[in-house]
Amino acid sequence: MITIDGSFGEGGGQILRTSLALSLVTGQPFRIEKIRAGRKNPGLLRQHLTAVKAATEIGQAEVKGNVLGSTQLTFTPGAIKAGDYAFAVGTAGSATLVLQTVLPALLQGNGETTTLTLEGGTHNPFAPPFDFLVKAFLPIINRMGAGVAATIERHGFYPAGGGKFVISINPTAQLGSLELVERGDFTAQVARAIVAHLPFDIAERELSLIGRKMDLPGEALHGETIKTSPGPGNAVTIELTSQHVTEVFTGFGERGVSAEAVANSVVKEAREYIAAEVVAGEYLADQLLLPFALARGGAFTTLPLSKHSTTNMDVIQKFLDVKFEVTTLSNRAVQVEVR
Ligand code: ATP
Repeated sequence: MITIDGSFGEGGGQILRTSLALSLVTGQPFRIEKIRAGRKNPGLLRQHLTAVKAATEIGQAEVKGNVLGSTQLTFTPGAIKAGDYAFAVGTAGSATLVLQTVLPALLQGNGETTTLTLEGGTHNPFAPPFDFLVKAFLPIINRMGAGVAATIERHGFYPAGGGKFVISINPTAQLGSLELVERGDFTAQVARAIVAHLPFDIAERELSLIGRKMDLPGEALHGETIKTSPGPGNAVTIELTSQHVTEVFTGFGERGVSAEAVANSVVKEAREYIAAEVVAGEYLADQLLLPFALARGGAFTTLPLSKHSTTNMDVIQKFLDVKFEVTTLSNRAVQVEVR
């Protein structure tokens, strides 16, 4: 039984999700203590509990400690069962993070396609927004040999939630490794702003600032009013497509924060990424570690590693016999190699 200290490094929910994901993949049981000890509200929140539920059903697992607020959990996986599943977080908690937990186990195998219907937040701060998932993360997973497609039925913003998306996962016998070290020239730069139950003027102000600061023509700026969201919300993205990757940077509208300030923070992120000449931004990097480890090889360039990434590497190495080699390329870029 592998023992995981949920308080080490970042001390957040990702330690639990990565442990569940790799327990499912490897069949190794684990016990985690001090779950999310590094957070103001430690223990399992709805989002984490839904991830545990999804992992338990899909992995035909035995689980102890799976109650709201619990700071410890024991998880003993069985065989992965492909099929049709539906999981609802029940709050605005991120449904994409539920996917992050079960996707690795469903990517590899000779089995049938799995269809997941996930409900909860689809556009949450501090979680992968649906558009990032579809445009940045999944295309890389598909290049590794799996066939994953996602469609959104309803947007779910904090605090109302109520979003819904469907994802179909066609597994591959073994994920292939990728060398994502060169970004290549940019082929497209686009900004999108969406609003739900809020004035469209918010989207226009965000796009106007991004257009000016990023020097983007009017055709590259897209505003949309989302009608399917149960509650109000606003998100703005800058999508940068280069020869070898698409990166998506997202900002979220917040009460008391001007549309310009939201757009400015996204511009800052996009500029840092452009200047660093790397393939993966901060968030894509911590999410690529696990699939790259499953591929048993590969490399990518990224920004100096976040604590999320270094913590995730430690958790991955508890389950898999892999090494991550991190080489500093400049004061704003590193290369991560998996061996
Ligand atoms: P907590 O730590 O409170 O449990 P959590 O469960 O939401 O929080 P974290 O451990 O903070 O999870 O992990 C958040 C995940 O969301 C990381 O994988 C990170 O890369 C991803 N993420 C956060 N913000 C973005 C963003 N703007 N774009 C893409 N991915 C993001």
